Amino acid sequence: MAQIIDGKAVAAKVRETVRVETEALKEKGITPGLAVVIVGDDPASRTYVNNKKKACAQAGIYSEEYALPASTTQAELMELVEKLNAKKDINGILVQSPLPEGLDETAVVEAIAPEKDVDAFHPSNVGRIMIGNFHFLPCTPAGVIELLKSVGVEISGKNCVVIGRSNIVGKPMAMLLLHENGTVTICHSKTRNLKEICRQADILIAAVGRRRFVTADMVKPGAAVIDVGINRDENGKLCGDVDFAEVEKIASCITPVPGGVGPMTIAMLLRNTITAAKLQNGVET
Ligand code: NAD
Repeated sequence: MAQIIDGKAVAAKVRETVRVETEALKEKGITPGLAVVIVGDDPASRTYVNNKKKACAQAGIYSEEYALPASTTQAELMELVEKLNAKKDINGILVQSPLPEGLDETAVVEAIAPEKDVDAFHPSNVGRIMIGNFHFLPCTPAGVIELLKSVGVEISGKNCVVIGRSNIVGKPMAMLLLHENGTVTICHSKTRNLKEICRQADILIAAVGRRRFVTADMVKPGAAVIDVGINRDENGKLCGDVDFAEVEKIASCITPVPGGVGPMTIAMLLRNTITAAKLQNGVET
């Protein structure tokens, strides 16, 4: 049976180091600050925002929430981003996605000052990640790397397969695995022979958004399996992309959903906020 990777425990450790670093920064007169912007009333987004605010408070990070109605115009949202870019007590800005229809998310991301872009979605930060000269790493992929390291999975030289090519998970995930010297394959909806490719993977990362997408016959015995997906099963319970019950019988280690990647995403957001505060105050990172 696979070792279950406890994302909550690993995230708690990261959060504790962030708390200690925040205390040290406060002694220098610096209080890291995060602004979270939510537009509309998507219930999942509301839960994420609440969790992020709670995590900030626990870590001693100052946070501000801007909850805007779904009727907010592009101009109003851009104006808020500009205001937050200039706000001295705010080091990080996060605009919760998805935005309501009609709002241009790309334009909003591009308006965020790169040094406050704690999601690492701004083209400037994406480019920095590509060339390996970065300040921030995108939270979910960075959390996955931490999880692999937490159980001693060696990435260097391994066959890594990422299923999914989104800008927020799949693509940056592949890039971070490459930075760790993995041999990386990205699969997507047009990939042929998905099963065969996945079966080559020493490290298999699923970021598709479909329950029970990764079945046991797609997994090489002994592989490390990381499940980024967040879905609901037929009973409305949270589940990932991986058929956990079957895959845990053959993988060497596996993340559960919930309690795997999810908690890491928030922990890495806190870490990025600290990095942003340091950068903006000339403190070495
Ligand atoms: P997305 O919809 O943008 O991307 C899904 C990807 O899956 C696409 O690139 C697509 O090519 C690929 N795909 C779809 N069907 C496929 C098929 N038949 N074969 C192979 N590939 C296929 O989603 P996303 O934003 O990348 O998120 C993926 C999942 O991860 C979602 O469930 C999302 O909720 C979850 N997520 C979790 C966290 C977390 O913190 N745990 C963070 C972000 C996203």
